[in-house]
Amino acid sequence: MPSILQCMDCAQQYPIKCVLYTCKECGGLLDVKHDFASLAAPITRELFDARLGAFAPPYNSGVWRFKELVYPGIEPAAIVSRMEGNTNLYELPRLAEFAGVDALYLKHEGENPTGSFKDRGMTTGVTQARHLGATRVACASTGNTSASMASYAAYAGMQGIVFLQNQEIAMGKLAQGIAYGAKCVQINADFDRNMALVRQVSERLGIYVLNSINPFRLEGQKTIVFEALQQLRWQAPDWIVVPGGNLGNSSAFGKGLLEMLEVGLIDRMPRLAIIQAEGANPLYRYFSGGLNHFQPVKAQTIATAIKIGNPVNLTKAIRTLEWTGGVVEEVSDEQIMNAKAVIDGAGIGCEPASACSLAGAKKLVESGTIKPGDSVLAVLTGHVLKDPEATIGYHADQLAGIAPGYRNPILQADDDIEQIIRLLE
Ligand SMILES: *Cc1c(COP(=O)(O)O)cnc(C)c1O
Ligand SMILES: [Zn+2]
Repeated sequence: MPSILQCMDCAQQYPIKCVLYTCKECGGLLDVKHDFASLAAPITRELFDARLGAFAPPYNSGVWRFKELVYPGIEPAAIVSRMEGNTNLYELPRLAEFAGVDALYLKHEGENPTGSFKDRGMTTGVTQARHLGATRVACASTGNTSASMASYAAYAGMQGIVFLQNQEIAMGKLAQGIAYGAKCVQINADFDRNMALVRQVSERLGIYVLNSINPFRLEGQKTIVFEALQQLRWQAPDWIVVPGGNLGNSSAFGKGLLEMLEVGLIDRMPRLAIIQAEGANPLYRYFSGGLNHFQPVKAQTIATAIKIGNPVNLTKAIRTLEWTGGVVEEVSDEQIMNAKAVIDGAGIGCEPASACSLAGAKKLVESGTIKPGDSVLAVLTGHVLKDPEATIGYHADQLAGIAPGYRNPILQADDDIEQIIRLLE
């Protein structure tokens, strides 16, 4: 088998079909490790470029196009795919100017089948679940993981089970979980507690867990950087900027970038900037304090997708910061919502958490960490329709503590042509 599970801390190895999320020896997080040298054909840019525009599965997926790097040993027929990925890379001078750099690329992961990058991790996670013979899968979620898991579980003919907070779930996400037929359990506990609960309940009931502690999720999510770099003709940008919540993406990007370097798809390592919300900034605090003493926080932010106080992938994210010479920044809810309004107003649109990328890039340019001449790849993680309440609240100036800098208020008029014309003049 070209792939195994390996503990990131003590290097203990386990067979690829072990149902395990952390190391039995030391409790460390697991990596899916592939032996690329054992593959029949070499991994080259040409191999992946030749699959662009493919109609047939599995290579019509923006995840499975990179199958050799994702899960080389899996049978194509075993793959559960909704043709995820294949998301656009936008380059708008207006947005580059807002950030203060010459070259800004926005990789829009909100263009996935269920509207967030979680689909990239779910195609690999649910594929592994089915490979293991699971009939039920579960996750704790701030919303997007549940939407994605519910969809992929239904698509694969499995039962999805979702643990959600009973408050501050974005409407679009909650609606998706129900619509796709998952058993949705709203629990009077925050995300971090729900995460602990889902692991314990799933262990008791023998349910496969699909949070980003599951290493197969990260194998799918690392294709965000594969695809973006392919779209950039394999020329690494100076910076990759990504929001950080549970730190699954941050962790996946580090692993993916290292693998791209290893097989020669890129020839230099970009630097990663992880952006957290001020009210959910445990990594930022840890990083700015010199990695001395990690302390979880009680999370609060309008960017509900990253409202996480105790990220499960912390140690993998730290490793990624080392590998990439990375940095961590924090942004306020007001900076997030203003950056979102600018992205939305450019016609692209995203959910609040996604706008951390642009808000964070801008702040890092202002502080001199990112130079104006640097090229920046910023990841937009979710779709504008996920959280309509945040958007409408912003433009109505009804969000507590947020002064909207880019309002587009809804105009009101009577059934009166003269009045309507006056409004538009
Ligand atoms: C899940 C999610 C995040 C957080 O990503 P992590 O990998 O947990 O750090 C950010 N934005 C959106 C839209 C998400 O759905
Ligand atoms: Zn271990």
